[in-house]
Amino acid sequence: MIALCGCWGCTLSFLDMDERILSLTTKITIERSSLTDIKRIKRRSAIGFIEGGVANEDNIETLRHFRENCDILISVGACAIWGGVPSMRNVFELNDCLSEAYIDSPTAVPHALPIVPRHPDIPRLTTKVYPCHEVVKMDYFIPGCPPSADAIFDVLDDLISGRPVQLPKSLNHYD
Ligand code: SF4
Repeated sequence: MIALCGCWGCTLSFLDMDERILSLTTKITIERSSLTDIKRIKRRSAIGFIEGGVANEDNIETLRHFRENCDILISVGACAIWGGVPSMRNVFELNDCLSEAYIDSPTAVPHALPIVPRHPDIPRLTTKVYPCHEVVKMDYFIPGCPPSADAIFDVLDDLISGRPVQLPKSLNHYD
């Protein structure tokens, strides 16, 4: 599981599976994840969970890397599915957002030279925040902000057990 432009709340829901994760460790091997901090997937993986939408060029590269290396890719949570809170900037021009954050903000440092930070090591923002399925094909969607640990576990357990994914309506809702 990897986090793109999100708040890590969906990743915390993943961890909220608690001891149920232990029951799965005999069946799965965790490759790249926020738990292991491994940057690249070293061998083809069965399932990739994606938190967050696509807000910069690094997110695009990471998402494509997952698509190329995972048989099944799953959007986890509102940000991955439709952009979520970060996509609220989509109604404004990117330059206006950056000015508001770094130059016109009431918390900007007084008397400091007003600049928007730019550096080769800082990923370039995309003009809009995109849901994952607008960048690569996604196979499943687990709604919620965040989805419950039960929802994530149900989907994972179905896939590992070779069953069709059938998230019950009580867990499959977009409100
Ligand atoms: S869907 Fe909600 S919990 Fe998940 S990353 Fe987005 S804001 Fe955070």
